[in-house]
Amino acid sequence: MKSLPNSAKKLIQEFSNLPGIGKKTAQRLTFYILQIEEEKVSSLSKALLDVKEKILNCNVCNGITEDKVCSICTDPNRDCNIICVVENSYDIIVFEKTNGFNGIYHVLGGTLSPLDGIGPDDLNIQSLLERIDDGMEVILATNSNVEGETTALYLTKILSDKGISLSRLARGIPIGSDLGYIDSATLVRAMEGRTSV
Ligand code: ZN
Repeated sequence: MKSLPNSAKKLIQEFSNLPGIGKKTAQRLTFYILQIEEEKVSSLSKALLDVKEKILNCNVCNGITEDKVCSICTDPNRDCNIICVVENSYDIIVFEKTNGFNGIYHVLGGTLSPLDGIGPDDLNIQSLLERIDDGMEVILATNSNVEGETTALYLTKILSDKGISLSRLARGIPIGSDLGYIDSATLVRAMEGRTSV
């Protein structure tokens, strides 16, 4: 590494900071960037800046959008009486890939984590309460790790007297796993077999 120019070292470092990218992959990506045409590199760096500049949180579900309200919330063919509550906007993509859910979403923006000082006021819980109406179905689709379970328990407690049908994703999803790593078939089964809480 000592022999590398500083700018290459810096890029390797930046790539290694990304999730799922180890030192070796970071080095390979850096050398790939060095080989390709400058035009392609400009296009890549523009795409990186564009997502930061253009993407907002949907005013309704907090998912990602370039408009005030996202394409799922404005879709007249979606069932607005079923809200699937997820931790992050990435989870929406995971569910959408399954083609097995036709309701709408609510993104919490994280999970409760007392040890890290993250309480109910730090998550989009108030806006969830404002969306809920009598007779709706709410599916708690937080991850099955400690933080996800803690959050689901908390939501169960504050939602149980709201006159809604409340369910949690069925097991079949390995304990401690992240929804992003679950295959679509398992996720669809978990959705179909959700249990009332
Ligand atoms: Zn939305």
